[in-house]
Amino acid sequence: MKIEFRKVPFTAKDFTSSLASVKLEGTFCKISPLLIKVDALLVGETTADCCRCGVEEHITIEEKLDFLLSDGIFNDTESEDLVIEVENHTINFDEIIESELSSLKSDYHICQECLQNNNSIEKEF
Ligand SMILES: [Zn+2]
Repeated sequence: MKIEFRKVPFTAKDFTSSLASVKLEGTFCKISPLLIKVDALLVGETTADCCRCGVEEHITIEEKLDFLLSDGIFNDTESEDLVIEVENHTINFDEIIESELSSLKSDYHICQECLQNNNSIEKEF
C-alpha cells in the first residue's frame, strides 16, 4: 500500500497493509507537516534460519511497531523514536514491511530442535 504524505490526516486513521503472509495494521496520523506517527502491529508468518543448524523454520510474528515517518531527511538527532525517512513524498508500507521482515529474519533464531538439545545438555550437568 502506498499513500501520499500530504494526504495523511492529522486525526488518527486506521490502516491495514499486507505483504505476502504478513500484515501491518494500526493507526497513523500527522503530528507535524513533515512527520507522521505510526502505531501498528506486524502480524503473520515468515521463515527464519536457525543460527545453529541452518534449518529453515516457520515463525509467527507479532511485533509492535511504533515509528515516525519523516517527509525527506530527518534532522532531529535528539529524537529517541525510530524514524523512517520517506522518499518522493510517498509512504510505501510494503517497503516498511519488507525491511522489518528482513531485520526479523536476520535476528538470532534457534529452531525447536536445537532448543530441545540445548535443554537436554543442560539437564545432564
Ligand atoms: Zn537448529
